[in-house]
Parts: sequence; structure tokens; C-alpha cells
Amino acid sequence: MADGNNNSPHGAVFDLLSELISRRSLTPDDAGCCDLLESRLAPLGFRFERIDAEGVTNLWATLGSGAPLMILAGHTDVVPTGPLEKWLSDPFTPTVRDGVLYGRGAADMKSGIAAMICAVERVLATGPLRGTLAFLITSDEEGMARHGTRHVVEVLRARGVKPDYAIVGEASSNETLGDRIVVGRRGSLGCNLRVLGKQGHVAYPHKGDNPVHRLMPALAEMVATQWDAGNAHFPPTSFQISNFHSGTGANNVIPGEADVVFNFRYCTESTAESLKARVHAILDRHCPRYEADWWHTGEPFLTEQGELIRAAVASIQDLTGSAPEFFTGGGTSDARFIAPWGAQTVELGPINDSIHKLNEHVKIEDLERLSRLYEGILRRLLG
Ligand SMILES: [Zn+2]
Repeated sequence: MADGNNNSPHGAVFDLLSELISRRSLTPDDAGCCDLLESRLAPLGFRFERIDAEGVTNLWATLGSGAPLMILAGHTDVVPTGPLEKWLSDPFTPTVRDGVLYGRGAADMKSGIAAMICAVERVLATGPLRGTLAFLITSDEEGMARHGTRHVVEVLRARGVKPDYAIVGEASSNETLGDRIVVGRRGSLGCNLRVLGKQGHVAYPHKGDNPVHRLMPALAEMVATQWDAGNAHFPPTSFQISNFHSGTGANNVIPGEADVVFNFRYCTESTAESLKARVHAILDRHCPRYEADWWHTGEPFLTEQGELIRAAVASIQDLTGSAPEFFTGGGTSDARFIAPWGAQTVELGPINDSIHKLNEHVKIEDLERLSRLYEGILRRLLG
């Protein structure tokens, strides 16, 4: 149903969002959300493919063909509620109080999805679009995020699908709708490191080999290293040790091994490979035997300029009268998988102050306005 035909007091986005909130889609359970989205997109002519994996629901819906390919991306899963008695109303019963809609997923990010769907309905009501318009919806963003967007991107990439633009409907706004868009994120690289020594009696140190003594100068060097200086969009790459374990518990035993977990949040001035190489160079100097098990959970990305940014800024200026702040901080999102695929990527969505919290909410007046923002971008790029 197009917005103009909607007779509900709070509008079409509110109605769809309420239906989505009612589905208890605790990560990674989609709880029927994608079925609902398909029922809205089918009358518009979208084609559907489920790229499900390991119990995760992934929907790839496309309309049209050829370039440009615009992806509207989002997740249907939500984080756990926390103690129910601390909610003012049931988290899965959409509830209005003082112009605000309460419910788990209201801001993160069922409102983004609902606003996107209604924007597409409105745009298509006035005529066809050029290129391809796609929805990439997953139920595994809040959990491990292994079988969700990352998996879909792998499958589509192998087929030669090449996106031009992606809007991720995550809650990007800070104090007012559209005051901030996310144009980049730092990368995340971690390591489980085990330094091997030789267990022995503390009274006979020449018969043992203390891995803590070998590890300490290596870690001191890593902590003191400036990995890069950052740039105009990102702070310098940060290194943090999160865990350090060694010792048998006895006070007279040289331990046989020492375990450390550390993490980099890195900017576009470094790469995962460059950081790994520098860590190994330090370790090689201090520790003859070690095992490094690396995990790389996200590349950094930055969409500094281009048509998508221009279209987003122009749409926001039309609606709010001011240009948004460009932001690269905060936690990760599925943009980390989509941007390296080659798409200009922004995150644009509602105010984020209640996400993952008790009594998550969104201002009702922002719902139709958010939908207008997406509509403005779609008309500028595909109209
Ligand atoms: Zn989210």
C-alpha cells in the first residue's frame, strides 16, 4: 500500500514497523519478518532468492536489471530484551506513549527496513526506476554475523554481481534525524597468541624457559608502537590487550606457556596484512616459539565522496535544512561486508540513543521523514 493510500493515523511506516516489532526475531531468528517483507515487495514486481545458511534467513530481492545496482540493506534480528520487568511495556508489543513507539528493534533496525520498503512503494508508484534496486536482508547481524550479509556477499560476488551503491538502514542519527551519517568504519583484527616456553622449577631457571619473560618486552613494544597517525576521517589505529593468562597457580613453577588476546581497531592507513607483519617482526625478535591465531572480523571502509554521498546530503538538506556530520566511529555493522565489495556505502537511519537498551524506541514523526530521506536518495540516483 502506498503512503498516500494509507489511512492509519501514524502512517504506513509505523504500521509496517509495528508488524515487524511484533515478530520476536531474537538473533538469529527471523521469525517471519522476511515473509512479511516479501509480501510487500511481490506486488511491486521484485524477484526473490533466499540465500539462507546455518539457520540464518537471508533475503535477496531484486527489481529491474543492469547498472546501477543500488542495495538497501538491513537486518531483521534484534538483541535480547534484558530484564522484562524493567521494560515499561512488552518489548514485542509495539506501544505508543507520547508520540514515541516502543519495542525491541524500533530503532535497531526495523524502522530502517520499514522506511525503506515504504520509500520504494512510493517511488515506484510514480514510475519505473533505472538500473537494479535490491534488498539485502539478513537475520544474523546482531549475533556472530558469519552466515548473514557476509555469506550473501560471498555468493553474489562469486556470480559476478557488482553493486554501485548501498544504504544500510542502521540507526546513524545522533540527536535529530539525519544529523549524522556513517561514511566509514574502522577495521577489526584480533589475535589469540600463545608463547611457548619450558616449564621448570623457579630455583633452576637455566633448566626452564619462561614465556612470560619473553612475552613482556614484545608486548611492551607493541603497546608503545604508533601503528599509524590516522587521517582526516579516522583516529590512529589502536592496539589493546584484552586477556593475559599464564602460570600454574603454584608459586615455584616457571610456566610452560603464556596466552594473550589482543585486538586492533584499525583505520584506512593500515591493513590487516601490514599490522600482522609488524606484530610478527616484533614477536620474532623476542619469542623463539609462538602460535598466533588471527581473526579478522572487518575491513575498514570509507566512502568519502561520490554520487551516493551527494544524494544523501542533498536529501537530508531538503528535509532538515542542514548538512549531516560524516561519522566513522561506533561499533561495526554489515556495511563492513558490503563496502569492500565495491559499493559506495552509507549508513543512514533513526536516532541511535536507545539501541540495544531497555525501552528501545523511535519517534513516530521520524518514521515518515526517514522514509522521505530514502525516497530522495532513490529518486536522485535511480529516477
Ligand atoms: Zn543494527
